[in-house]
Amino acid sequence: MRIVISGGAGFIGSHLADLSLARGHSVIVIDNLITGRRANIAHLLDRPDFRFIERDVIAEHPDVEGDLYFHLASPASPVGYARYPIETMLTNSLGTHRLLELARRDRATFLLASTSEAYGDPQVHPQPETYWGNVNPIGPRACYDESKRYGEALTITYVREFGLNARIVRIFNTYGPRNDPNDGRIVPNFITQALRGDPITVYGDGLQTRSFCYVADLVEGIWRAAMTPGLSGEVINLGNPLEYSAIELARLVKRLADSSSEIVHLPGREEEIARRRPDIAKARRLLGWTPEVGIETGLRSTIEAFRLELGIPASDRVVEPA
Ligand code: NAD
Ligand code: UDP
Repeated sequence: MRIVISGGAGFIGSHLADLSLARGHSVIVIDNLITGRRANIAHLLDRPDFRFIERDVIAEHPDVEGDLYFHLASPASPVGYARYPIETMLTNSLGTHRLLELARRDRATFLLASTSEAYGDPQVHPQPETYWGNVNPIGPRACYDESKRYGEALTITYVREFGLNARIVRIFNTYGPRNDPNDGRIVPNFITQALRGDPITVYGDGLQTRSFCYVADLVEGIWRAAMTPGLSGEVINLGNPLEYSAIELARLVKRLADSSSEIVHLPGREEEIARRRPDIAKARRLLGWTPEVGIETGLRSTIEAFRLELGIPASDRVVEPA
């Protein structure tokens, strides 16, 4: 199968490219590297079954053809979309339109990477796909949340109007190797700080929660959402339902990295999301998917990857499980 991955030089997209190639398919990555990194796909560049096109998804793509389109292009971290708010909105609206048109032309399958942010600051906990969300359309996260919601609406309209075979996954917080140490998200921040001995920065009281999915689990879920027949028009949550507060995560990372960093509290974010946890009953039922990597295992492998990337030697001490 010819697989096209927009945002394939990013954190999740590069793992999806690896998985697609490992399963015997050819891959074209379209990425303008606005938040992604060439290093994430450097190991693939010489393969004959892999092609990298450095380009904005908003552009025309006359040279691209595919049987399956994974649309992951979009800044994803709050720091990233605050820095590039217009680019984020255009990528998720015009860029999504461009790729939907390509998929329609090629009679291909299309998968949209949406987000748990579609639920905003949820009033229902955990969040099932049937919940419509609680989003401030003019708040600090609006450029991301609302453009992702528009992308969902556009995708479902292509299903209804043109019979496009499209699926939507709502991804919850995901972490792992190739997380950008500088993108400001909680896991890369805490690991980088712990490894460098810098203060671990908890925002606000640290009681806000997130649920953390290891990237290998997530890409398996994305793969099944694309490959399982009969799912056109479905919206499926993908994430790990185990929920941790920011302060709990800070303590865990500090212990697993064997770090002497102190944990400090900084002012809370404006319009902080208080709680987030996916209801994944639908993914279990339709995809037979459930996350398998526990938080300690996932964090250990991420810490090791960060040590290599940041050039920080491993400590000799063995960190025992709690
Ligand atoms: P990332 O920033 O590492 O990857 C996104 C990639 O898209 C980057 O390589 C970036 O350069 C590329 N990109 C952005 N705008 C583009 C454009 N206009 N044209 C071409 N390329 C463009 O982020 P990620 O964590 O890998 O996220 C991937 C997708 O998953 C995003 O759509 C994001 O919204 C979604 N998602 C991620 C998470 C998470 O926890 N990582 C959670 C929810 C949703
Ligand atoms: N957070 C934190 N310290 C950091 C980075 C993030 O306490 O250095 C908190 C942040 O306030 C939020 C959670 O971690 O409650 C997740 O933030 P992130 O930016 O990773 O993604 P979000 O889920 O908010 O989109």
